[in-house]
Amino acid sequence: MSNAVIEFCYLLAAVCFILGLKGLGHPRTAVGGNVVAAIGMLVAIVVTLLDQRIVGFSVIIAGFATGSIVGALMAYRAPMTSMPQMVAIFNGFGGGASLLAAGAALEEVLAGELTEPLGVQFTVSTASAAIIGAVAFSGSLIAFAKLQGLISERPILLPGRHVMNAIMLVACLGLSVWLVMEPTSALPVWAMGGIALVLGITLVIPIGGADMPVVICLLNAYSGAAAAGLGWALNNSVLVIAGSLVGASGFILCALMCKAMNRSLANVIFAGVGAVAASEAETEDVYAGRVKSASADEVALLMDGARRVVIVPGYGLAVAHGQYAVQDLTRLLEARGVEVEFGIHPVAGRMPGHMNVLLAEADVSYEKLKEMDEINPTFRQTDVVLVVGANDVVNPLARKSDPSIPIAGMPILDVDQARTVVVIKRSLSPGFAGIPNPLFAAENTLMLYGDAKKVITDLVAALKES
Ligand code: NAP
Repeated sequence: MSNAVIEFCYLLAAVCFILGLKGLGHPRTAVGGNVVAAIGMLVAIVVTLLDQRIVGFSVIIAGFATGSIVGALMAYRAPMTSMPQMVAIFNGFGGGASLLAAGAALEEVLAGELTEPLGVQFTVSTASAAIIGAVAFSGSLIAFAKLQGLISERPILLPGRHVMNAIMLVACLGLSVWLVMEPTSALPVWAMGGIALVLGITLVIPIGGADMPVVICLLNAYSGAAAAGLGWALNNSVLVIAGSLVGASGFILCALMCKAMNRSLANVIFAGVGAVAASEAETEDVYAGRVKSASADEVALLMDGARRVVIVPGYGLAVAHGQYAVQDLTRLLEARGVEVEFGIHPVAGRMPGHMNVLLAEADVSYEKLKEMDEINPTFRQTDVVLVVGANDVVNPLARKSDPSIPIAGMPILDVDQARTVVVIKRSLSPGFAGIPNPLFAAENTLMLYGDAKKVITDLVAALKES
């Protein structure tokens, strides 16, 4: 294959990646965008394998078929709530591949006849691909283990972790300088890779489960940066472009999530939010004797007389798989002339867009999903707000500026301004932030205890009977 053909195919793949990213920016074009990006990846892989004469067409077709079947089965079988850990594990493999490819490239070059010393571009890019790739690999495995419940979701705060991390980082940088100054052996690369693997673990283990989406985006950005570094080392343009796109979009998504939580990236990574749950005394102080509960029949009566209802979904709705029950309730209310809208907080659930995807699965119309800034001014004209499995994103404590409150300053959905608030959850347990929620004890709030899917199904039955 001539160089011109290869470069043209790489350019085509890069254009597909950019169009794919653009498509992913809106739910209506997201599926198309995903397909275009996948075609780009197929072109890039096939051209690379043919160019390097690694395998022939028959192996490529067999690999394509096997990969498609495994991928389709995994995507089909994985529940929505497992999406973050799926992204984490795929991400981790990307980082691991960059580490191995960087080491292997160096070994291969050193094994050949060296006519001149290795250039700085090659050694610096190899070292950065190895370090960043290793951190992305082991960090992503820890993120996967936390979200899959294989290890505790709570932050594990190792003593002296900041000093330990700083020492490992300095050691990696020292080994990189050694490689650049004396590029005659691959030992420094494997050593820095080994240290960076430990660094990935110690960096991610002190971070709480609900902060994992931010960390996964950051690790995703790292794996992109590692791939771009590898692209520089191997002189491969498509790897540089794809890696840079992944790196940049990961960093941007990270920044957007931090902004939505009103927290800095440093706070997410180093503060160990969620490590300390509120004490019983603090919880008792907020709730004692003030929380009122209601039955599904009582809430059905309330909704029957309402003109406008807003549903606020949260993580608990995803856990309960209650999206279809919510859609049934919406249809029933609308058939009775009630206006129904959904209030979507940007960090509700456990990953960006979690609630949008969850509700889209049950065919809830996208037009009904209103973002925080749009829905907040309407709560005063709302008869009933149904908070389903959400907690932190509706916690009025976030309006305080007290730095001891982990969600202080986070913009919230102002549901407490509605005439009546009904909160569906199983108990008074806190959300991820580990703090009590004064909304549950407010004058206009009723608690409807139980699993979200079961409670909403009961509510639908009660409404049909009323
Ligand atoms: P949340 O504050 O974590 O609260 C979820 C609530 O759901 C819990 O209080 C739990 O109470 C309830 N629940 C669990 N299983 C349930 C079930 N089967 N049926 C009914 N209720 C159930 O969730 P959120 O309000 O969605 O807030 C998300 C949190 O994650 C925020 O703190 C946010 O900062 C953080 N976060 C999100 C992202 C993101 O990208 N989305 C990223 C980083 C951090 P019970 O146990 O009493 O039922």
